[in-house]
Formats: sequence, C-alpha cells, structure tokens
Amino acid sequence: MNSMYFTEEHQMFRQSLQDFLQKEVVPHIEKWEETGHIERFIWKKFGEMGFFGIAYPEQYGGMDLDLFYTVILLEELQKINSGGFAAAIWAHVYLAMTHVNKEGSHELKEKYLTPSITGDKIGCLCITEPFGGSDVAGMRTTAVKEGDTYVINGSKTFITNGVYSDYLVVAAKTNPELGNKGISIFMIDRETPGVSATKLDKLGWRASDTGEIAFDNVVIPASNLMGEENKGFPYIMQHFSLERLIMGINAHARAEHALEYTLKYMSEREAFGKSIDRFQALRHRIADRYTEMEICKEFNYSVAKRLNDGQYVVKEATMSKLQSTKMADEVIYDCLQFLGGYGYMEEYPLARMLRDSRLGPIGGGTSEILREIIAKMVIDKKDYKPAT
Ligand SMILES: Cc1cc2nc3c(=O)[nH]c(=O)nc-3n(C[C@H](O)[C@H](O)[C@H](O)COP(=O)(O)OP(=O)(O)OC[C@H]3O[C@@H](n4cnc5c(N)ncnc54)[C@H](O)[C@@H]3O)c2cc1C
Repeated sequence: MNSMYFTEEHQMFRQSLQDFLQKEVVPHIEKWEETGHIERFIWKKFGEMGFFGIAYPEQYGGMDLDLFYTVILLEELQKINSGGFAAAIWAHVYLAMTHVNKEGSHELKEKYLTPSITGDKIGCLCITEPFGGSDVAGMRTTAVKEGDTYVINGSKTFITNGVYSDYLVVAAKTNPELGNKGISIFMIDRETPGVSATKLDKLGWRASDTGEIAFDNVVIPASNLMGEENKGFPYIMQHFSLERLIMGINAHARAEHALEYTLKYMSEREAFGKSIDRFQALRHRIADRYTEMEICKEFNYSVAKRLNDGQYVVKEATMSKLQSTKMADEVIYDCLQFLGGYGYMEEYPLARMLRDSRLGPIGGGTSEILREIIAKMVIDKKDYKPAT
C-alpha cells in the first residue's frame, strides 16, 4: 500500500473488493470469455455492493468518494485477468455514466444514473464511427431537431457494451457544417425504434460485447439532449482526461499482475539445475520491466491526485495512457517469453493478457493521436481548456 495516496479505509475497500471478485466473478470468467456475454446477475451484485456508485453523488444513490477508490476498483479488476470483463464494467461506470452525471438533466439522472448505480441499467458511450474514430470531428451521424424531438441517423462501431446495454450515450452532429463545433451528446434508450446492434468478433477483451450500432430515423425527446447543443466535442475532450488516465491505471495494474505471476512461476520453474529466476539475463530484464512499471504507477497516482484535487490534467492523462499502455505491452510480451512454451498456452494467464493488453494503445485515442496532442501542448504551447 502506498500511504501517500491510500488510507486504511482505502485498504479495507480493496480487501472487500478482492474478496467479492474472487467469490462472485472469478468462477464465471471462463464462461463469459467464451460466450462474450456477461450475465445480468453480476451487474446487479456490483450495484448491491455499491461499486458502481463510488464516484457519484449521494443524491442519485452514489457514495461520492475520492478518486483513489476508483483507482482501487480499476486495479483489482485488472488482477482477475479478463480485460473484457474489466472493460465492460469501467465503460459503463466511467464512460457512459460520466456523461450522464456531468451533462445529464436531473430527470435524465433519475432515469439513468440512479439505475446505473444500482446495476439495473447498463450504459455505453458511442463516439467512434465506421468511417473513422481518430477524427472525432469527422463523424457523420446526425441529429436533426423536429419540434420537440431530435431524429438521429447514422452508425457507430467498436462500442463496448454496444449490444447488451440498456442505454446509449451518443455523439451526433447537430450542425454538420460547423465541424467539431456542431457536435452534441444525446441519451438514447435501447428500446427506441430504429436502434439496432451487431456483435463484433475480436482479438481480445473477449468477455465484453463490442457492437456496431445503426440509427435509422430514431426519434428521441428533445429533453434527451445532454448539456448544451453543439458543445459535445468539448465535453468529450474534457472527459478524455479521466478515460485516458483510467486506461493508464489499467495498464500499470495489468503489468504489475503479469510481473507478480511471472516471478512466482520463475521461482518454481527449473532449468539447468536451478530455478530460472537465477539467470542473470532474465533477472536484468525483470529489473528493467519492474522499474518501468513502478515509474508509470507512481506517475499515474500523482495524476489521479491532481485530477481528484480538481486540476485539468489533459496533458498528464494523455502521457499516462501513452506511456503506460506501451509499458504494459512490453512487460507482458517479456513475461510470456519467461514462461516459455507455457506462456503460449491458453491454460496459463499470459496468452489472454497479451491479447487484452494490445487494445491499450488503440482504444480511447491511439498512441499516434496521443503523441499529436502532447506535441501540440509541448511544442506549439497549445492550451486545452475544460468545457465546464
Ligand atoms: C475493443 C474496442 C473497444 C472500443 N470501445 C469503444 C467505445 O466504447 N466507444 C467508442 O466510441 N469507441 C470505442 N472504440 C473505438 C476506438 O476508440 C477507436 O478504434 C480508436 O479511437 C481508433 O479509431 P479507428 O479504429 O477508427 O482508427 P483510425 O482513426 O482509422 O486510425 C487508423 C490508424 O491511423 C492512425 N492515424 C489516424 N489519424 C492519424 C493522425 N492524424 N496522425 C497519425 N496517425 C493517425 C491511427 O493511429 C491508427 O494507427 C473501441 C475500439 C475497440 C477495438
């Protein structure tokens, strides 16, 4: 436990979460990895335990706790080795629910945030489109105002929880001619006529459902606009700070878990008459990888502290995701190597870790896009301001 950031209360929360995950989640992971469908009962159990509400206002059933409870939730989810299960949970809590909480009206919060906290409703966030994800401003989905409704047409892809969720937080163009200044955010109920979803097959994150979604003349009440019209792009950018830090934290936790598992394996596996953790070639690689992981972890904690204190950490969160996801891929690649042939076998955890980790430098902003953002900030002195 790092006492600079974690208190006794945090530690107790970590322990009860670990117990819960081992008892309620781990026995089902293999089945969900195979079917790509996380059963409803576990969402309800998470809700009953209060885990979905740790960062949300008490008014809507949350606990309004500091960000280090979220750090613990993210870290422990990585340590049960199902990137897909973890993604389904954090995409619900920290992608969809963040927008509902920050931009949703009181009525929308009562209808969607409260049941999200109890685990009765699952959400997803729909930004990426088939024609391009990195170029958010180039999205083609439209929302046309007609009386007291909006009519949505278009499509989204690669959406986590895109098939089995109950509501969709959707970015669409309200003023297509204004580019990124013409995007707005909407709440769309899954049951609305004209919404359809197709499940996608993928390399990793296999427990989570990733969907392609079509909107065919979907009519929603005008009151389902979240926040102000045409301010969707700044909202998305603002929340990327949290999302990217989350992906950085996931990466350091995943790498730490891989190293801990691998060190144990190396102490038990023998070659040439001694355990393989005695070979200097491997020891030095472990020393390097451990150092890189610890540096990312400490950096991520410091960014979490600053975000928790209300600072706008867009640059640091971008750096966190860029560096931590690269580090995690390299750590896991090496750890798999240190298991030799067993590393390549499905019954050992490294194969899944390698697959799941590969999404880190792609989802939520590719590493190339993150470098563009950092370059603009450090070279061109561009200053990104929060939307609210
Ligand atoms: C499993 C999974 C889950 C996902 N979950 C969600 C979700 O819940 N919600 C959501 O909205 N999206 C989600 N995404 C989408 C993800 O955020 C996008 O895939 C990502 O932003 C990249 O967009 P793209 O796939 O369209 O790639 P493209 O934008 O087509 O990029 C292709 C390549 O070109 C590079 N490139 C593009 N532009 C530039 C540039 N200016 N300079 C240099 N290189 C560039 C990219 O880095 C990349 O290597 C998910 C994706 C996956 C795979």
